[in-house]
Amino acid sequence: MRRPLVAGNWKMYGNSASVKALLTSLKDLVWQPQVDIAVFPPTLFLIEAVQALKETPILTGAQNCAIEPDEMALTGEVSASQLVDVGCQFVLVGHSERRLLLGDTEAILIKKFQAAQSKGLKPILCLGETKEQREKNQTFTIIRDQLNSIIDSLGIDVFTNAVIAYEPVWAIGTGLTATPEQAQEVHCFIRALIAEKKEAIAQNIQILYGGSVKENNADALFTMPDIDGGLIGGASLNADEFGAIYRIA
Ligand code: PEP
Repeated sequence: MRRPLVAGNWKMYGNSASVKALLTSLKDLVWQPQVDIAVFPPTLFLIEAVQALKETPILTGAQNCAIEPDEMALTGEVSASQLVDVGCQFVLVGHSERRLLLGDTEAILIKKFQAAQSKGLKPILCLGETKEQREKNQTFTIIRDQLNSIIDSLGIDVFTNAVIAYEPVWAIGTGLTATPEQAQEVHCFIRALIAEKKEAIAQNIQILYGGSVKENNADALFTMPDIDGGLIGGASLNADEFGAIYRIA
Protein backbone atom coordinates (compact mmCIF):
# COMPACT_ATOMS: atom_id res chain seq x y z
CA MET A 1 0.00 0.00 0.00
CA ARG A 2 1.46 3.39 -1.00
CA ARG A 3 1.29 6.25 1.51
CA PRO A 4 -0.12 9.48 0.10
CA LEU A 5 2.15 12.54 0.14
CA VAL A 6 0.92 16.12 0.20
CA ALA A 7 3.70 18.56 -0.73
CA GLY A 8 3.44 22.35 -0.72
CA ASN A 9 5.54 24.32 -3.20
CA TRP A 10 5.72 27.91 -1.99
CA LYS A 11 7.65 28.99 -5.10
CA MET A 12 9.15 32.53 -4.74
CA TYR A 13 6.31 33.75 -2.52
CA GLY A 14 6.54 35.14 0.97
CA ASN A 15 8.54 37.47 3.18
CA SER A 16 9.83 37.24 6.75
CA ALA A 17 6.47 38.11 8.29
CA SER A 18 4.26 35.95 6.06
CA VAL A 19 6.57 32.93 6.29
CA LYS A 20 6.63 33.19 10.08
CA ALA A 21 2.83 33.36 10.16
CA LEU A 22 2.44 30.42 7.77
CA LEU A 23 4.89 28.27 9.76
CA THR A 24 3.08 29.11 12.99
CA SER A 25 -0.24 28.02 11.47
CA LEU A 26 1.25 24.84 10.01
CA LYS A 27 2.42 23.79 13.47
CA ASP A 28 -1.24 23.51 14.46
CA LEU A 29 -2.24 21.09 11.68
CA VAL A 30 -3.76 17.94 13.08
CA TRP A 31 -1.44 15.06 12.27
CA GLN A 32 -2.81 12.46 9.85
CA PRO A 33 -0.68 9.39 10.65
CA GLN A 34 -1.38 7.68 7.33
CA VAL A 35 -0.32 10.65 5.13
CA ASP A 36 3.15 12.12 4.47
CA ILE A 37 3.42 15.91 4.34
CA ALA A 38 6.20 18.27 3.23
CA VAL A 39 6.71 21.94 2.44
CA PHE A 40 9.09 23.56 -0.05
CA PRO A 41 9.78 27.15 1.07
CA PRO A 42 12.06 29.57 -0.80
CA THR A 43 15.71 28.68 -0.08
CA LEU A 44 16.12 31.75 2.10
CA PHE A 45 13.57 30.41 4.58
CA LEU A 46 14.58 26.73 4.65
CA ILE A 47 16.49 26.87 7.92
CA GLU A 48 13.66 28.73 9.63
CA ALA A 49 11.14 26.17 8.29
CA VAL A 50 13.18 23.17 9.46
CA GLN A 51 13.52 24.70 12.92
CA ALA A 52 9.87 25.69 13.19
CA LEU A 53 8.56 22.32 12.01
CA LYS A 54 11.02 20.05 13.82
CA GLU A 55 8.47 18.80 16.35
CA THR A 56 5.82 18.20 13.70
CA PRO A 57 5.52 15.45 11.06
CA ILE A 58 5.98 18.09 8.34
CA LEU A 59 9.14 17.43 6.33
CA THR A 60 11.04 20.12 4.45
CA GLY A 61 12.33 20.21 0.90
CA ALA A 62 14.09 22.62 -1.42
CA GLN A 63 12.73 23.80 -4.74
CA ASN A 64 16.06 23.33 -6.51
CA CYS A 65 19.65 22.23 -5.99
CA ALA A 66 22.96 22.74 -7.77
CA ILE A 67 24.26 20.33 -10.42
CA GLU A 68 27.26 19.60 -8.21
CA PRO A 69 26.59 17.89 -4.86
CA ASP A 70 29.38 19.38 -2.75
CA GLU A 71 30.66 22.82 -1.92
CA MET A 72 32.70 24.48 -4.68
CA ALA A 73 32.99 27.76 -6.60
CA LEU A 74 29.47 27.96 -8.05
CA THR A 75 28.17 31.44 -7.32
CA GLY A 76 24.52 31.71 -6.39
CA GLU A 77 23.87 27.99 -6.11
CA VAL A 78 23.00 25.78 -3.14
CA SER A 79 24.35 22.23 -3.04
CA ALA A 80 22.54 19.04 -2.07
CA SER A 81 25.02 18.54 0.78
CA GLN A 82 24.20 22.01 2.14
CA LEU A 83 20.48 21.26 1.93
CA VAL A 84 20.94 18.00 3.82
CA ASP A 85 23.13 19.77 6.37
CA VAL A 86 20.32 22.17 7.28
CA GLY A 87 17.75 19.39 7.54
CA CYS A 88 16.03 19.08 4.15
CA GLN A 89 14.76 15.68 3.05
CA PHE A 90 13.43 16.42 -0.45
CA VAL A 91 14.21 18.49 -3.51
CA LEU A 92 12.04 19.31 -6.53
CA VAL A 93 13.73 18.43 -9.82
CA GLY A 94 12.35 19.59 -13.16
CA HIS A 95 9.47 21.81 -12.08
CA SER A 96 8.04 23.27 -15.29
CA GLU A 97 8.91 26.82 -14.21
CA ARG A 98 12.55 25.75 -14.06
CA ARG A 99 12.36 23.82 -17.34
CA LEU A 100 10.60 26.61 -19.24
CA LEU A 101 11.79 29.84 -17.61
CA LEU A 102 15.11 29.05 -15.95
CA GLY A 103 16.97 26.93 -18.47
CA ASP A 104 16.87 23.54 -16.76
CA THR A 105 17.54 21.18 -19.67
CA GLU A 106 17.33 17.40 -19.47
CA ALA A 107 21.14 17.26 -19.12
CA ILE A 108 21.02 19.65 -16.16
CA LEU A 109 18.12 17.78 -14.54
CA ILE A 110 19.98 14.47 -14.73
CA LYS A 111 22.88 16.08 -12.83
CA LYS A 112 20.58 17.66 -10.24
CA PHE A 113 18.71 14.38 -9.70
CA GLN A 114 21.99 12.52 -9.26
CA ALA A 115 23.50 15.21 -7.02
CA ALA A 116 20.42 15.11 -4.77
CA GLN A 117 20.39 11.34 -4.40
CA SER A 118 24.13 11.13 -3.85
CA LYS A 119 23.63 13.15 -0.64
CA GLY A 120 20.48 11.39 0.52
CA LEU A 121 17.93 13.97 -0.64
CA LYS A 122 14.82 12.44 -2.19
CA PRO A 123 14.11 14.01 -5.59
CA ILE A 124 10.54 14.77 -6.64
CA LEU A 125 10.82 14.60 -10.42
CA CYS A 126 8.20 16.81 -12.10
CA LEU A 127 6.88 15.82 -15.53
CA GLY A 128 4.26 17.52 -17.63
CA GLU A 129 3.13 18.64 -21.05
CA THR A 130 2.23 22.16 -22.19
CA LYS A 131 -1.22 23.08 -23.48
CA GLU A 132 0.11 23.12 -27.03
CA GLN A 133 1.63 19.65 -26.64
CA ARG A 134 -1.65 18.27 -25.25
CA GLU A 135 -3.59 19.79 -28.12
CA LYS A 136 -1.22 18.11 -30.57
CA ASN A 137 -1.76 14.75 -28.82
CA GLN A 138 1.87 14.70 -27.68
CA THR A 139 1.19 14.25 -23.95
CA PHE A 140 2.32 10.64 -23.71
CA THR A 141 5.40 11.18 -25.89
CA ILE A 142 6.49 14.14 -23.77
CA ILE A 143 5.96 12.31 -20.48
CA ARG A 144 7.81 9.24 -21.76
CA ASP A 145 10.74 11.33 -23.02
CA GLN A 146 11.04 13.28 -19.76
CA LEU A 147 10.96 10.08 -17.69
CA ASN A 148 13.27 8.15 -20.00
CA SER A 149 15.80 10.95 -19.88
CA ILE A 150 16.46 10.05 -16.22
CA ILE A 151 16.03 6.28 -16.64
CA ASP A 152 18.38 6.07 -19.64
CA SER A 153 21.14 7.98 -17.84
CA LEU A 154 20.79 6.82 -14.25
CA GLY A 155 18.92 3.50 -14.49
CA ILE A 156 15.53 2.48 -13.14
CA ASP A 157 16.77 1.72 -9.61
CA VAL A 158 17.10 5.43 -8.79
CA PHE A 159 13.30 5.48 -8.59
CA THR A 160 13.44 3.28 -5.50
CA ASN A 161 14.17 6.49 -3.65
CA ALA A 162 12.31 9.17 -5.58
CA VAL A 163 8.84 10.59 -6.09
CA ILE A 164 7.25 11.59 -9.39
CA ALA A 165 4.86 14.51 -9.82
CA TYR A 166 2.70 14.74 -12.92
CA GLU A 167 2.06 18.44 -13.43
CA PRO A 168 0.39 19.43 -16.69
CA VAL A 169 1.86 22.86 -17.41
CA TRP A 170 -1.52 24.19 -18.55
CA ALA A 171 -2.95 23.46 -15.09
CA ILE A 172 -0.23 25.11 -13.00
CA GLY A 173 -1.36 28.35 -11.41
CA THR A 174 -4.12 28.73 -13.99
CA GLY A 175 -7.12 27.49 -12.04
CA LEU A 176 -7.55 24.82 -14.73
CA THR A 177 -7.25 21.33 -13.28
CA ALA A 178 -6.87 18.08 -15.18
CA THR A 179 -10.02 16.04 -14.66
CA PRO A 180 -9.45 13.08 -12.35
CA GLU A 181 -9.75 10.84 -15.42
CA GLN A 182 -7.21 12.85 -17.43
CA ALA A 183 -4.77 12.77 -14.53
CA GLN A 184 -5.34 9.08 -13.79
CA GLU A 185 -4.68 8.21 -17.45
CA VAL A 186 -1.23 9.84 -17.31
CA HIS A 187 -0.41 8.48 -13.84
CA CYS A 188 -1.28 4.98 -14.99
CA PHE A 189 0.91 5.49 -18.08
CA ILE A 190 3.87 6.62 -15.91
CA ARG A 191 3.46 3.62 -13.60
CA ALA A 192 3.28 1.26 -16.59
CA LEU A 193 6.49 2.72 -18.07
CA ILE A 194 8.26 2.06 -14.79
CA ALA A 195 6.69 -1.41 -14.50
CA GLU A 196 8.16 -2.33 -17.90
CA LYS A 197 11.57 -1.95 -16.25
CA LYS A 198 10.82 -3.03 -12.66
CA GLU A 199 7.39 -3.98 -11.38
CA ALA A 200 8.23 -3.59 -7.68
CA ILE A 201 9.42 -0.01 -8.14
CA ALA A 202 6.27 0.84 -10.10
CA GLN A 203 4.05 -0.51 -7.34
CA ASN A 204 5.87 1.40 -4.59
CA ILE A 205 6.62 4.80 -6.12
CA GLN A 206 4.44 7.73 -5.08
CA ILE A 207 3.10 9.59 -8.14
CA LEU A 208 1.66 12.98 -7.17
CA TYR A 209 -0.67 15.16 -9.19
CA GLY A 210 0.00 18.91 -9.38
CA GLY A 211 -1.91 21.67 -11.11
CA SER A 212 -4.43 23.92 -9.33
CA VAL A 213 -5.27 21.35 -6.65
CA LYS A 214 -7.66 22.96 -4.18
CA GLU A 215 -9.79 21.84 -1.28
CA ASN A 216 -12.78 21.43 -3.60
CA ASN A 217 -11.14 19.16 -6.21
CA ALA A 218 -8.61 17.21 -4.12
CA ASP A 219 -10.98 14.42 -3.14
CA ALA A 220 -11.91 13.44 -6.70
CA LEU A 221 -8.25 13.49 -7.76
CA PHE A 222 -6.87 11.62 -4.74
CA THR A 223 -9.37 8.78 -4.98
CA MET A 224 -7.98 7.78 -8.39
CA PRO A 225 -6.02 4.53 -8.04
CA ASP A 226 -2.68 5.83 -9.36
CA ILE A 227 -2.76 9.28 -7.74
CA ASP A 228 -0.81 9.18 -4.48
CA GLY A 229 -1.33 12.72 -3.27
CA GLY A 230 -0.52 16.15 -4.63
CA LEU A 231 2.10 18.78 -5.27
CA ILE A 232 0.27 21.93 -4.27
CA GLY A 233 1.33 25.43 -5.32
CA GLY A 234 -0.99 28.35 -4.64
CA ALA A 235 -3.19 26.55 -2.14
CA SER A 236 -0.19 25.60 0.02
CA LEU A 237 0.33 29.27 0.96
CA ASN A 238 -2.84 29.15 3.02
CA ALA A 239 -2.47 26.86 6.05
CA ASP A 240 -6.21 26.25 6.32
CA GLU A 241 -6.56 25.17 2.71
CA PHE A 242 -3.32 23.17 2.72
CA GLY A 243 -4.47 21.50 5.94
CA ALA A 244 -7.82 20.65 4.35
CA ILE A 245 -6.07 19.06 1.35
CA TYR A 246 -3.83 17.11 3.74
CA ARG A 247 -6.87 15.77 5.59
CA ILE A 248 -8.56 14.81 2.31
CA ALA A 249 -5.47 12.81 1.25
C1 PEP B 1 3.12 23.89 -8.64
O1 PEP B 1 3.70 24.96 -8.65
O2 PEP B 1 3.78 22.84 -8.57
C2 PEP B 1 1.66 23.88 -8.70
C3 PEP B 1 1.05 22.74 -8.86
O3 PEP B 1 1.02 25.09 -8.58
P1 PEP B 1 -0.56 25.36 -8.42
O4 PEP B 1 -1.10 24.39 -7.42
O5 PEP B 1 -0.66 26.77 -7.98
O6 PEP B 1 -1.17 25.13 -9.78
